[in-house]
Amino acid sequence: MAKKKEENKEYTIEDLPGVGPATAEKLRDAGYTDLIELAVASPKDLAELAGIGEGVAQKIIAAARKYANVGDFETGDTIMERRSKLTKLTTGSKEMDDLLGGGLETQSITEFFGEFGSGKTQIVHQLAVNVQLPKDKGGLEGHAIFIDTENTFRPERIVQMAQAYGLDPKEALKKIHVARAFNSHHQMLLVDKAMEVAKEFPVRLLVVDSLTAHFRAEYVGRSSLAERQQLLNRHMHDLLKFADINNAVVAVTNQVSAKPDTFWGDPTAPIGGHIVAHNATYRIYLRKSRGNKRIARLIDSPSLPDGEVVIAITNEGIRDA
Ligand code: ADP
Ligand code: MG
Repeated sequence: MAKKKEENKEYTIEDLPGVGPATAEKLRDAGYTDLIELAVASPKDLAELAGIGEGVAQKIIAAARKYANVGDFETGDTIMERRSKLTKLTTGSKEMDDLLGGGLETQSITEFFGEFGSGKTQIVHQLAVNVQLPKDKGGLEGHAIFIDTENTFRPERIVQMAQAYGLDPKEALKKIHVARAFNSHHQMLLVDKAMEVAKEFPVRLLVVDSLTAHFRAEYVGRSSLAERQQLLNRHMHDLLKFADINNAVVAVTNQVSAKPDTFWGDPTAPIGGHIVAHNATYRIYLRKSRGNKRIARLIDSPSLPDGEVVIAITNEGIRDA
């Protein structure tokens, strides 16, 4: 029985005509948790992921399109107004800042990817300190949230980096809110939690180190690839929302995979394939060079020329080579 759509009511999957609790559960298990996701799904994917017939999938999608809140158009001046608040966060290296057009941009996701030891974790530690700096020093005078999936957050390293700037290390540590993520679901939940923390503190940086490690470990093999990609996609949408709402920098790390578990079959492609690539506004590929030097290359930026610079990982932190 078709229900009439009421304005301002938030509809759920169960409100769709023909969808009972059992089908709703199938849809949720397949990763479709709200109407907008169903509205934009392809019938083939939905049928396959939820284990329903393609005809049924088509009907569900058509119904979801009627009931979903598909969002509104914004006028250019509203977008201009939001973009006028964009600011940049220094990386600690002048050269890497220049590569990025002045530093890491707020309201965006920046992905650092590279092999083990390429400096990803060092860079995000540095950012957690830099975000606290005054604006004329390239900071955002804010707090950092650090979602740590590999247990590699080191307060001792923060102390070194803070001291190098003459910051009180104790104060610096107090402005970094760290949470261990025990699995990919926990990692995703922590973004909701981060939203709450950001209501209490002026959070201007959200780090996820590593974005993909749990997902890679938990979703192994071809059969679970679609689900993994879908969850990663949703996770990155949540991260971008955090960046927008808080005018914050989001920095994520991603290891390059030596196994051909990517879409491209490239043996050194970053994990997460095109889903992660498309959701990151800026992507920096890090490679080891001599000693403490690392090569940072900007990849596929929408607004900046590709290029590469050399940085150094020093005891003080990330610096020009
Ligand atoms: P990834 O996260 O990409 O696996 P890391 O960010 O952990 O890599 O980088 C590890 C590198 O950082 C190592 O080469 C290590 O020598 C260097 N490093 C770690 N701590 C310091 C320090 N206090 N001073 C100088 N270099 C350091
Ligand atoms: Mg690391």
